[in-house]
Amino acid sequence: MFFKIIDFSKYSSIRIGQPTEVLIIEPGDAIPTDHYLIGGANNLLISPTPPPLMMLSKEYAYFKEADGFLEIGAATPTGRIVSYAKKHDIAGFEFCAKLPGTLGGMLAMNAGVKSYEIFNILHSIRIDGEWIPKEKIPHGYRFAHLGGIATAAKFEIHRGYDRALLQELVSLRNNQPSDPSAGSAFKNPPNDHAGRLIEAVGLKGYRIGDMAWSDIHANFLVNLGKGTYEDAEALLKLAKDNVFEKFGIHLKEEIKRL
Ligand SMILES: Cc1cc2nc3c(=O)[nH]c(=O)nc-3n(C[C@H](O)[C@H](O)[C@H](O)COP(=O)(O)OP(=O)(O)OC[C@H]3O[C@@H](n4cnc5c(N)ncnc54)[C@H](O)[C@@H]3O)c2cc1C
Repeated sequence: MFFKIIDFSKYSSIRIGQPTEVLIIEPGDAIPTDHYLIGGANNLLISPTPPPLMMLSKEYAYFKEADGFLEIGAATPTGRIVSYAKKHDIAGFEFCAKLPGTLGGMLAMNAGVKSYEIFNILHSIRIDGEWIPKEKIPHGYRFAHLGGIATAAKFEIHRGYDRALLQELVSLRNNQPSDPSAGSAFKNPPNDHAGRLIEAVGLKGYRIGDMAWSDIHANFLVNLGKGTYEDAEALLKLAKDNVFEKFGIHLKEEIKRL
């Protein structure tokens, strides 16, 4: 293992943070338990004082096919997964297109789009060196309790990469803000949409400093320039307070603050 300085104002999708020392874990290293693992930082808000951070090295980005299964390393970026599936005519990964991150981040968040979620197509995950079948891992809408560090996952191979489905899912992204963000800030409450609630309390487009609730999609916290962690935090609190006051609904953060 070795240390690397990562500038989170450039690396994180929301462009907030500062140059920070991150421990890079290589195959064979004992994985420390006192560091927080990050993937591609597409769902993170890095504070000025984050906990000690670690990351899997590039060696953990790989594909291996055997006995009807595809094994993918946890550091593999989603874009590469979609390209692999296309090249080898494998079905099921179409929804990963334009869903920024790594496989590890997708597993931990049970990331997905509409009814498509990574756990739907998953067979098992290698967690802390042991293969665990998905049925043994508590998971649901945008969460999975992995209970450790995922280094790889296995998927049963079904042929038939679906171009039409890919196009349909990618076109859903057309009305997504292009300003830097970390995706949806809040999870959708049961039978409702966080974006609708934020809009209903008049916060769509509301700005503090250089951070704002997007005027395109109210559940996207966007960085319009030099947005800070404090501005982001203030907007999250404002939305939570106002939505609770008006609707009695507690919005839960999907974004992870570190
Ligand atoms: C423009 C945009 C659009 C988005 N659209 C969607 C969407 O449609 N659907 C959706 O679900 N998400 C969406 N997101 C959020 C984000 O893409 C997903 O949450 C993604 O899975 C995060 O992956 P990551 O590698 O960046 O994880 P990170 O943000 O780095 O980490 C997220 C969490 O995963 C954990 N984690 C990472 N790697 C591992 C590992 N190997 N083992 C254990 N835990 C790990 C981290 O500890 C952290 O808790 C969007 C984000 C952006 C910026």
